[in-house]
Formats: sequence, structure tokens, C-alpha cells
Amino acid sequence: MTGVLPAEALSERATVDGSRVARPGHGARPRVLFVSHTGTMSGAELVLRDAVRPWPGSTAFLFEDGAFTDVLRGLGLEIRLARRGTGLSGLRRDASPLRALPMLGRLGGLALELARAARACDVVYANSQKAFLLAAIPARIVGRPIIWHLHDILDGAHFGWAQRTLQARLANLCAARVIVPSQAAADAFWQAGGRPSLVTLVPNGLDLDRDPRTPEALRAELGLPAGPLIGVFSRLAPWKGQDVVIEALARLPDVRCIVVGAPLFGEDAYAAHLRDLAAARGVADRVLFLGQRGDVPRLMQAVDAVVHPSIDPEPFGRTLVEAMLAGVPVVATDAGASAEILDGGAAGTLVPPRQPDRLAAALAELLAKPGAVAARTRLARDRALSRYGAARMQRDLATLINHVAARA
Ligand code: UDP
Repeated sequence: MTGVLPAEALSERATVDGSRVARPGHGARPRVLFVSHTGTMSGAELVLRDAVRPWPGSTAFLFEDGAFTDVLRGLGLEIRLARRGTGLSGLRRDASPLRALPMLGRLGGLALELARAARACDVVYANSQKAFLLAAIPARIVGRPIIWHLHDILDGAHFGWAQRTLQARLANLCAARVIVPSQAAADAFWQAGGRPSLVTLVPNGLDLDRDPRTPEALRAELGLPAGPLIGVFSRLAPWKGQDVVIEALARLPDVRCIVVGAPLFGEDAYAAHLRDLAAARGVADRVLFLGQRGDVPRLMQAVDAVVHPSIDPEPFGRTLVEAMLAGVPVVATDAGASAEILDGGAAGTLVPPRQPDRLAAALAELLAKPGAVAARTRLARDRALSRYGAARMQRDLATLINHVAARA
């Protein structure tokens, strides 16, 4: 593990509204083209939603329409939608790049559109792997610097060798900076062949208002059952590990679980498997599938513990920070960034991934003596407030964008 450059190391002069660092020959504020491959809102898009708040008047280029389009428009961004859908969102994250070959015609058209949009801006900001893959060369051709916000762990658990190598090489060739949300994501990028000097660590940041009501009052309002209740909050996908929680539940009589989230990127078979598994383990009446929700913070405050069961390394895990801010005990798998966020276990319980026995034991202990973890939960909230706020993230990103624009 190597130390990674924090954003403040880049420039002392930038401010969150970009007012003090000017690109030579332009006004004080660089024009940014934010590029997203998807219109669906998962964690990376929620991060971008908060990141663009200080940048009204900038442009967002989306490869496809969706709920995200209106959110960005509502924040004052000018929207440019790719004229023809790319079909890229149907490509699984671990698919071989060769699977994209039949789409080459459409991708070429998209690259031309991106080049035109990039020429009208000072900096291109790609918010995903697919966005970077498609925008990197067009940006370079028209002479605009490109920042890649890498929201993934670029390792063998998530991506094939060819894709990891292609992305890392392309970053070495084209990226002005690569932003990662955690040291775990930085390490994976370097191990994939990415250049360490490109990387800036900007932890994700978010704000969350706590509901003043008691968990009991919230449960009554939300129609949730009384008694021991745990919750899992994330899109349904095999690597998010909801199945491990169902297996653990079979070892925890009397405990109920809310499963919050939907299969956002085509993982419908896994969603069906979770229901079958709950029936097969005899816990179907104790697992409540609530689907995709817009009130995660309130739901979190209503449960006794939040479980973060990912079986593969997490690049960050916004849900961890949300649980910390909600003041609810967390049990998370020790994979990827969880240990960084939970201070090596001081701010939450860490268990090995894919081990329902260990997860069940940790939950049983926590549910039996909730008072025993009260101090740790307070510490977790303080840690989240001091390290993972939205204003800090916006400041760091503005520093970086301004730095890149000033050097261009
Ligand atoms: N989330 C949500 N509604 C749901 C399930 C999840 O709004 O039904 C949110 C959750 O609160 C979190 C984000 O989706 O803010 C997931 O981000 P995370 O970094 O945990 O995972 P990712 O989706 O990026 O892998």
C-alpha cells in the first residue's frame, strides 16, 4: 500500500465555487463537462449529484436518459443526451471488451458527440469506467484534460484482465487525474497497472438529516414489525451479498430483516434467487423485500443494526457512512474500503465476507447487548461527520478541477 495524494496537496488557492483559480485566457470559472454513462441512480450517480451542486451552469453529458437526467437538470446543469443510445448499460461490468464490438458504429458516433461537447468546455470529468473509456480519446483529440472519477475496485473480483489493463493503460495515456474514494480503490488501480502519481484520494461525502423520532415511532409509521430488526440497504447484485444475510438469518430465530434496494442493472435473476433462498431456508416470513426506496436514512434509523454484506471488495460504500450518520450500529464485511471507513473496526463490527456463521454470531452479540455498542456508534457518527461530509468532498473536487484547468 502506498500513500495517495489528497486533493489539498494540489492547490492551496482553489475555492469550492472555483472563483480563485483561473484557466489562462478564460474567465475565473472553468467550464466542466460532466460525463455519465447511465441515467440510473446508484451510488456513483448519487456522489456526482452532490459533487455538481457547486457547478450550476456546467454541462452534463449522459449516454442515456433516466431519473438522473432530471436530477442534474434540477441542479442547474445543462443536459446533453447522446443522440443514439449506446447499449452500453446492458454490458455487464465483468464482460470482455470484445462484447462491445458489435456496437462500434454507435460508439464511434458517440465519440464524435463527446468530442464536440468537450471542445466547448475546459475540463472533462468522467464519472464512471464506461464514461472514461468513451470520453478519454475524444477529449485528448480536442486538447481538453480529462479527470476520471473511478468509483470501482479495479481488481479480478470485479473485472476481467483485459478490461483492467485497458482501463489502466488508457488512464496512464489520457487522464489528467484519477480520483478514487478510498485507499483500497487506489491500491487496485495501481495493481492493474495505473500510474500512482495520477491518483488523488477524495473520500465520498454526504449529508443526512436525522429524524428526531424514536425507532419505535418510525417503525410504526413505516409499517415495520416490532422486535429485533436488521436492514440491508443496497441495490440487489450478487457481489452485494444479500444472500449471505438470508443464510445468517436462518441461524437467528426471531430476527427480522428488511432488504432495501432493487436490481438496478439487470440482476433480476439474483433478486428472484433471494426470494427462493428465503423460502428454502424457512425465513421467508422474516425477510421483507421493500424494493428501491427514497427514504433510506429513515429506514436505517428504524432498525437495530445495518448489515453491509458485500462479498467482493467495496470501493467505498455510501451505505456505511449513512448508517454511521444515522447513529445505527453497523456490521460490515472486511473487504475493500469498509475497514478504512469503520476505522479498522473501532466504528463498526467487521466480519469476513461470505461467512453467514460469523455474520450471525456478530449480529446475535450486538442484538443481545445493544448498550454495549452505544459508545462505538457515537464514535462512528462523529467520524462520519468529521470525515465524510458533502462540503469537504465538494471542496476537494473543486480544488482538483481548478488545478487541472489551470494547468491545461
Ligand atoms: N440506496 C437508495 N435506495 C435503495 C437502496 C440504496 O437510495 O433502495 C442508496 C443508498 O442509500 C446509497 C446508495 O444507494 O446511498 C448506494 O451506494 P453504495 O456506495 O453503498 O453502493 P453502490 O451502489 O455505489 O455500489
